[in-house]
Amino acid sequence: MKTHAQAVVIGGGLIGCSILYHLAKLGWTDVVLLERDELTSGSTWHAAAGIHGLHDNNNVTRIQHYTMNLYKELEQETGQGCGVFQPGSLYLAQTEAREHQLRLQEAKARFYGLNFHELSREQAMELHPLAQFDDIRCIMYEPDGGNVDPSGVTHAYAAGARKMGATIERFCPVLGTDPQPDGSWIVRTEKGDIHTQWVVNAAGLWGREVAAMAGLELPLQPTEHQYFVTDAIDEVAALGRRLPSIADRDGEYYFRQEGNGLLIGAYEKDMRFWAEEGTPLDFAHDLFPDDLDRIMDNVMRATERVPVAATAGVKRVINGPMIWSPDANALWGPVPELRNYFVCGGIIPGFSQSGGLGLLAAQWMIEGEPQYDMFAWDLARFDDWADKAFTKARVQDQYTHRFAIHFPNEEREAGRPARMRPAYAMQKDMGAVFGLNSGWEHPLWFADQPGTVDTNSFTRQNWWEPVGREARMLREAVGVIDISNFANYIVKGAGAQDWLDRLMANRVPSETGKSCLTPLIGIRGGIAGDFTITKTDTDAYMMVGSGMAERYHQRFFDMVDRPEGTTLDRATNRIAGFNVAGPKARDMLQRLTNTDLSNDAFRFMRSATIEVAGVTCLAIRVSFTGDLGWELHCPEENQIRLYTALLEAARDFGGGPVGGRALGSLRIEKGYGSWGREYSPEYWPQEVGLERLVKLDKDFLNKEAYLGIKENAPREVLSVFEVDAVHDADASGGEPIFLPDGRPVGRVTSGAYGYSVGQSLAIGFADPALAGPGDEVDIFILGKPHRARRLAVPPFDPEGIRLRS
Ligand SMILES: Cc1cc2nc3c(=O)[nH]c(=O)nc-3n(C[C@H](O)[C@H](O)[C@H](O)COP(=O)(O)OP(=O)(O)OC[C@H]3O[C@@H](n4cnc5c(N)ncnc54)[C@H](O)[C@@H]3O)c2cc1C
Repeated sequence: MKTHAQAVVIGGGLIGCSILYHLAKLGWTDVVLLERDELTSGSTWHAAAGIHGLHDNNNVTRIQHYTMNLYKELEQETGQGCGVFQPGSLYLAQTEAREHQLRLQEAKARFYGLNFHELSREQAMELHPLAQFDDIRCIMYEPDGGNVDPSGVTHAYAAGARKMGATIERFCPVLGTDPQPDGSWIVRTEKGDIHTQWVVNAAGLWGREVAAMAGLELPLQPTEHQYFVTDAIDEVAALGRRLPSIADRDGEYYFRQEGNGLLIGAYEKDMRFWAEEGTPLDFAHDLFPDDLDRIMDNVMRATERVPVAATAGVKRVINGPMIWSPDANALWGPVPELRNYFVCGGIIPGFSQSGGLGLLAAQWMIEGEPQYDMFAWDLARFDDWADKAFTKARVQDQYTHRFAIHFPNEEREAGRPARMRPAYAMQKDMGAVFGLNSGWEHPLWFADQPGTVDTNSFTRQNWWEPVGREARMLREAVGVIDISNFANYIVKGAGAQDWLDRLMANRVPSETGKSCLTPLIGIRGGIAGDFTITKTDTDAYMMVGSGMAERYHQRFFDMVDRPEGTTLDRATNRIAGFNVAGPKARDMLQRLTNTDLSNDAFRFMRSATIEVAGVTCLAIRVSFTGDLGWELHCPEENQIRLYTALLEAARDFGGGPVGGRALGSLRIEKGYGSWGREYSPEYWPQEVGLERLVKLDKDFLNKEAYLGIKENAPREVLSVFEVDAVHDADASGGEPIFLPDGRPVGRVTSGAYGYSVGQSLAIGFADPALAGPGDEVDIFILGKPHRARRLAVPPFDPEGIRLRS
């Protein structure tokens, strides 16, 4: 067996083989895959292996499309059959909300040049004469949908990888992974050790056990999952061609042809966890006993759709394990706390995503970053707050609602509360409706009645009016926004300024009491982050960034050596914060502090440590609302005291608490981007208007990459649109934008009603050659065209007079 390799992939399932293939394809041919049994010995061998292209997340759609096209190429490249059947898929809507979802997906498909379009009932009947569609209000057709042979695909990846020089060792369980001081690893097996640069954990059902070898706990939980295949059905055989599959998600089952019979599977409400205490090491090509009674309700609905299914006997039942992350997305990426350790686990639609997962994983290891922003998959979105209880509760919710629509703004209750600040109970009593934000319970809006919950749909919901009241209150008087969901870092030591300057694109302040905004540049020159950095004292800085990206950003922080004696303290858990903003913010705050807050004494982008109602706070004069305001950061234990005083004072000025949803609207009125939506490594600084903050007269992380793209004309530019919201719905992010003549021009990243400007708004990227300021476009909210105009400047205070007043 080899003793050295560039990467060792652990696990010869679908995903491990795809990663091996893509590593080799991108040039790393000195790579080894170790499989403890035969290839496909986990979830892979028994999968129903359906494939589809469309997903609510645009980048996942892109990589699913890549995957579907890859299988045929693989067959040609390797000669190994992948058993690709693409008779098409019919997507059915029984409800108005599902129709909205499908129409939106149709518009996105048009934008990305994918094949997905509406059919009449008659057309659907022609394609699937054995189904009935009487109760269906909208039918979409994806001609490329279908299924593959799970073993064929896995072996094709393996054959392709071997052809390029990769090695596969079967019956070779990995027994240990030991990190070396230089960042490399020793992978231990009974057949010997391999010294490798990268370890890839693609151990599927055993992802937790393999992670534990590196001292890592992954939020993953296996469940059982069942489908069955019927005996041959004469009516199916008589057709002499393959039937399209049926995705009747309102009916909560999936349905396709298998041989001359039918295959029906379901994510039942009465689900079962498996292997809660760990996946047995002797489990391989095994299944669980059948329990079709559990999925009988779903099956009944399926047989109402295709009545001949009820006439056939059951030929074979598959009840096998699959392993889930808390949000059913992949748990993917290099582990920030370890060097050169890549995880790719928790894959549910593996056959739709294997190619993209493999390609982007290989890009990440070889090129340093994937080509698309895949934060939705990045394991750094979870941290130790996603414990076992949270994971189980979320997995149960995900499994039992696998086919439910995930609405924009929807907050799932399962597993919560996970992480709470001291003010949680107080906010609850005040009527706060909470969202989950990097594990924190975070107030989204304040209802009149405590205990109120969000209603959900694609249209405006119960929160829309109250959020409007909060936004207007802030613009007219003052609002107190809990910003304890932001990430806080304290950098200290004689080398603090030097380190921050070598890390961040902007020059950090050298004078105590000054703040700056700065981008963090990614490996390809895009925006990996945006931070406010404040010099709080000699050799001391406070850095505020995106809460959800805290663990993600750690990877970048570790790329720049910290000078001896300089420390980076992730202080988020200890620091709470409020943003007090609005035209009366100064008068209100002045009541609570002896520090002079006048514009001359405390200017925009300045900071000071001040006493507010007896609580020592770092006050920074910035506000994501775009209004006059201060961020107040204080020790978490003083949060209630500060909050109580702020709210009392605000009340006297006609103000009060404001939640995260109003903040979302206010920042869009001002045209501010937000990390994860507008700011992402996919976009260059010149595309998001941040190039003025990149200082070329000094070094910073990934400066070379930035110089490489600096002179490129923007492909798309971040723009604000005013929208004619004719359907009682606002944009929410992801909607495609077309010119009135139908040419694709861009996509929305965030949307909201701008309550203080009285206009539905969207913010997103548009091709500047096609849509200039003032030009009309169509934004496909609910999948329907809504006329919109690109604005030359944001609608609220474009000159920044309020901020600086
Ligand atoms: C009933 C069922 C139906 C499904 N239907 C579909 C579908 O229609 N469409 C779809 O896209 N997906 C479907 N899936 C999901 C799909 O099967 C998974 O997404 C996919 O198989 C995951 O592959 P994997 O490589 O991540 O994991 P696995 O297949 O679990 O592979 C992991 C491999 O790692 C090996 N391994 C573990 N530990 C070690 C070690 N210490 N050393 C060496 N090797 C090790 C294992 O032996 C195994 O071969 C279905 C799953 C089930 C259970």
